[in-house]
Amino acid sequence: MRVFHCEVCGAELFFENSVCVTCGTAIGYSREEGTMVAVLSDRPICANLNRCGCNWIADRLSPIGLCFSCTLTRTRPADGDIVGLGQYWIAEAAKRRLIFSLDELQLPIKVSDGFVGLAFDLLSSSQGKIMTGYQNGIITLDLAESNDAHREALRASMDEPYRTVLGHFRHEIGHYYCGLLALTDDRREEFRSLFGDETTSYEDALQRHYSTGSGQDWQDRFISAYATMHPLEDFAEVFGHFLHIADTLQTAREFGLIADVERVDPLETPMAELLARTWLPLAKGLNQINRSMGRSDLYPFVLAQSVIVKLAFVADLVTHANS
Ligand SMILES: [Zn+2]
Ligand SMILES: [Zn+2]
Ligand SMILES: [Zn+2]
Repeated sequence: MRVFHCEVCGAELFFENSVCVTCGTAIGYSREEGTMVAVLSDRPICANLNRCGCNWIADRLSPIGLCFSCTLTRTRPADGDIVGLGQYWIAEAAKRRLIFSLDELQLPIKVSDGFVGLAFDLLSSSQGKIMTGYQNGIITLDLAESNDAHREALRASMDEPYRTVLGHFRHEIGHYYCGLLALTDDRREEFRSLFGDETTSYEDALQRHYSTGSGQDWQDRFISAYATMHPLEDFAEVFGHFLHIADTLQTAREFGLIADVERVDPLETPMAELLARTWLPLAKGLNQINRSMGRSDLYPFVLAQSVIVKLAFVADLVTHANS
């Protein structure tokens, strides 16, 4: 994430701000201009400001005054669903950060026309069981994941080192880009050599994963236990991880936490070099900072050699996504 400055008084602004706390100017993030700007009559704030706290400038193409990020949400909790709407507020904030990251990496986002493209169903599980997942361009999130106590209980019960709403979005968007960038005529063979045959039965893989587990030595080849389940899940996990690294490196550079600013861009520095010279030293320091504050590690992952090769493949896909 970048740091922004108020165009009226020059004070520092963060991505989440809707008002400049120094001069009181109403502020929004303009996707078109790629920065935080003052809200004006010809530059209105998203119509969802009071519905989900959205602080993005309305998209000129939206007939109902929504921003680009809110336009991508196909389903949200009903107006009377107080619990669901509170969770939706949190989920949309994570989603805006996701969309910002995709834009920073210049990844294409095709808006759904009802048949193809990207859309989000943010569903309240007060109405019944919801499965977080991806299918044909639609990312579904069980909004209960926005509840810290609920999500933390799930994380512990599944023995996961990391579980966040943003992490869910980054994983699911990996499925979207897998179809768009990796499972193409010219990249499919490379995909299979790294991740395996994506046509392997998903149902069988799911059953095997939840009956026999991930095996003892999964850390030697995978970024997470979940990635062992199926080649498509492995790719989504690695893609999500790439977004973790790209966003965190950008933030660290913005706040002066990286000495070697030549090696922070995952699209310009070879992956092995980026990780060894910049990312892993930073992650080690961030973990120790968390421990200094009595918290668990910020970055609870180990990168095996084969995972580094998979991350390099993703970086290459992203680099060529727009060419
Ligand atoms: Zn200001
Ligand atoms: Zn919005
Ligand atoms: Zn998945």
